[in-house]
Amino acid sequence: MGLNDIRDRIALAETAAGRASGSVQLIAVSKVQPNARVAEVLDQGHRLFGENKVQEAAAKWPDFRDRYEGVSVHLIGPLQSNKARQAMGLFEAIHSLDRPKLAQTLGRLAQEMGHCPDLFIQVNTGEEEQKAGVSPAGTDAFVADCRALDLPVRGLMCIPPVDEAPSLHFALLAKLAARNGLDGLSMGMSSDFEEAVSFGATHVRVGSAIFGERAHN
Ligand SMILES: *Cc1c(COP(=O)(O)O)cnc(C)c1O
Repeated sequence: MGLNDIRDRIALAETAAGRASGSVQLIAVSKVQPNARVAEVLDQGHRLFGENKVQEAAAKWPDFRDRYEGVSVHLIGPLQSNKARQAMGLFEAIHSLDRPKLAQTLGRLAQEMGHCPDLFIQVNTGEEEQKAGVSPAGTDAFVADCRALDLPVRGLMCIPPVDEAPSLHFALLAKLAARNGLDGLSMGMSSDFEEAVSFGATHVRVGSAIFGERAHN
């Protein structure tokens, strides 16, 4: 597999779902990949990437941004409040807004800095203890709180439990987004992005299917 195959498969999934072509954005998850591999994907013309750690993104992306026009990097992993300021300068979007304290910090920084990346609220659709995210039952209230802070909430994000059918989680996330008037749905990874597209994903996060297996996470 590789970038072009994944693009083709997304296009087919869009058509199969009766969705407009180009309605799904492919986030190439470049975490842990060697810079030479990331450069290959940039050289193929791809410009949207995902990273799960602030430090790793800070080490990798300023240099690539100097060398390539139009790069966009999204944070898809957990964000500590004390790294929020740095993250706001590094990413065009943050997919891991998952708790009130982080919302307050981002709201304060957004006022101070006069800008804020696009935000996706992470929902713990499987209600797993070890996983980040707001509960499905708490999502409506949290969206409202974020809006009251003037935060640019664009959508919802989920990472389904590994041992369950993802479709139930994609359907739930789509339902929660629709009833909150949110268009963005960040869902689907290497193993299930086509299914996510069929449930309305606007952003799929695909790593290993593009870059090959990671040595570690
Ligand atoms: C690593 C990661 C991905 C990509 O996973 P693959 O299975 O390699 O496609 C997607 N989303 C998040 C939040 C990740 O941490």
